[in-house]
Amino acid sequence: MAEDCLFCGIVAGTVPADIVYADDAAVAFRDINPQAPVHVLVVPREHVVDLRELGGRPDLAGPYVAAIGKVADNLDAPDFRTVFNTGAPVGQSVFHIHAHLLAGRPMGWPPG
Ligand code: 5GP
Ligand code: ZN
Repeated sequence: MAEDCLFCGIVAGTVPADIVYADDAAVAFRDINPQAPVHVLVVPREHVVDLRELGGRPDLAGPYVAAIGKVADNLDAPDFRTVFNTGAPVGQSVFHIHAHLLAGRPMGWPPG
């Protein structure tokens, strides 16, 4: 657990969140500012900063990616988009890796 990390606080239960899924590897909760009818953030329990750091942790990566699929299944969202922002200039604002899992409305590509 990292000091002053919002998502470590949610994992630890010290920061309230609308948790929709949890297992040994990951926790998922609804985004406070949803961009789609389903907008959930999936985070590993362990503090990992971003996708690059996750690449160095294959022990975590497999269970974490598996959890993302399970979250979608549990939310009855067979079709979904995942976004990982990596770096502040492209929009990362919380430096504990999180998959944005978005579903429930049509989405174009490329994203607007
Ligand atoms: P990022 O910009 O780092 O890719 O995504 C961070 C996300 O966390 C944003 O979509 C933002 O709405 C969400 N967020 C920020 N603070 C909180 C919070 O306290 N609770 C929840 N559930 N989501 C948050
Ligand atoms: Zn953290």
